[in-house]
Amino acid sequence: MPERARLTKTLFVAGVQCHRKLWWQVHEPTAVELQPDIVLQDLFDQGTHVGALARTRYAGGVLLDRGRSRDERVADTARALEAGATVLFEPAFEADGVHVAADVLRRDDQGWRLTEVKSSSSVKPEHVADAAIQAHVLSRNGLEPSTVEILHLNPGFTHPDGGDLFAATDVTAEVRARRTTVPGEVAAQLAVVAGPLPDVAPGLHCHEPRQCPFHDRCWPADANHIRHLYLVGPKKTVAYMQRGIHRIDDLPPDEKLPDAARRQRRALAGGTVVVERTLSHALAPFAVAPLGFLDFETIARAVPVWDGMSPWTMAAAQFSYHEVSADGLRHEEFLAEGPLDARPVIARRLVEATRNARAVVTYSAFEKTRIRDLQAVVPELAPDLRALEAKLVDLLPVIRNNVYHPGFRGSFSIKHVLEPLVPDLSYTDLVIVNGMVASVEIARLLFVADRIPAHERDRVRADLLAYCQRDTEAMLRLLHALRGLASGAS
Ligand code: SF4
Repeated sequence: MPERARLTKTLFVAGVQCHRKLWWQVHEPTAVELQPDIVLQDLFDQGTHVGALARTRYAGGVLLDRGRSRDERVADTARALEAGATVLFEPAFEADGVHVAADVLRRDDQGWRLTEVKSSSSVKPEHVADAAIQAHVLSRNGLEPSTVEILHLNPGFTHPDGGDLFAATDVTAEVRARRTTVPGEVAAQLAVVAGPLPDVAPGLHCHEPRQCPFHDRCWPADANHIRHLYLVGPKKTVAYMQRGIHRIDDLPPDEKLPDAARRQRRALAGGTVVVERTLSHALAPFAVAPLGFLDFETIARAVPVWDGMSPWTMAAAQFSYHEVSADGLRHEEFLAEGPLDARPVIARRLVEATRNARAVVTYSAFEKTRIRDLQAVVPELAPDLRALEAKLVDLLPVIRNNVYHPGFRGSFSIKHVLEPLVPDLSYTDLVIVNGMVASVEIARLLFVADRIPAHERDRVRADLLAYCQRDTEAMLRLLHALRGLASGAS
């Protein structure tokens, strides 16, 4: 078998999810679907950072060079073991056509202890498959692990020194149970990569344990596919497909559905927007002035950066605020600068910007949660922030409970409802078009600005301001469109 067709830990885990995915990963390693976007690359980078921090826990370890070829790394590892190394970082082994590199391998009184480092805040089922293939290859090299553990981030840790950043979970028993299936799975996967593209029907495995990047190659593009029914996640989608229901119009008339999904079915059947008579009443809380529109962008880092934050805690770092009053339209915005804690400044700017509003429109409960976070972090402004919280009015449930347009495609996210209801406004002219990208870009600006050329910093900053501003602009225009629909429905 050629070198490129051998399995690795990553390929094995891909193959456990789906043999078709494995085949594409082996035979099309440069496929566009496999190229990490900025969000995935940031996850990789954070994982590398977490791995480096984890290594500082073990004194005297020998770090094997990941930059060398697989064969060289295996040889380097053998030499380190021969030289008596008892703590190895990234040691590489091969057996049965599988190449693995362990995060940490160390010998103690009990024998060899295998540690897999993860940047998640808990152990996940897929981590066991990951550790099991390593344990199998180690065992085949005569290094049977006595203990296998996942070293993950400790959700109870608080920056800067509130406890241990890491927590270790022993998965020896789970790995032992899983290993009984490993030799058979390895043989099956090696046969798959040596053969033609296998047929695998789409199913739950396309979404679990992670969304498959080849989703669009295997699932029909049909806008009325049952997966676009409101509130059906992967499990319900597959259950419908197993009942022979592949399209929304395949649903039996008496199928029990949430109100919004029933409205969706009516809209699709009629090919037109459905508006309930209740819309006008639902819009009453928005008929005040001054009326504000608020949107936050946040950061969430694996290794927390500001006081009191835990791994992956979200923190507000940007807002956009529009306010409509008798004086016209006013816009205010804030985007953090530099690595220092931005929350006291953002809280103060927010309180000042929204002080005169009688109601403040948000889209979902996200902003309310962030304002509550700020109350805890900036206690001196807590009364003002509570007053702001009391003024919030959420536009999302107004749409979800009263309006369905066929263009929503089963989702009430602002990106999905904007174009159908406000056709002349979209996000397509922007560079940053979703909150996850915004979050990564803000973190880059705040914490690694010195690695970004000045002209790019200015460009990213402008892109972030434009994106957040578009969100509040979108809310404003949506409210206007809804008022139009309400007047037509009444
Ligand atoms: S979309 Fe589903 S069937 Fe297709 S490769 Fe991915 S996991 Fe396999």
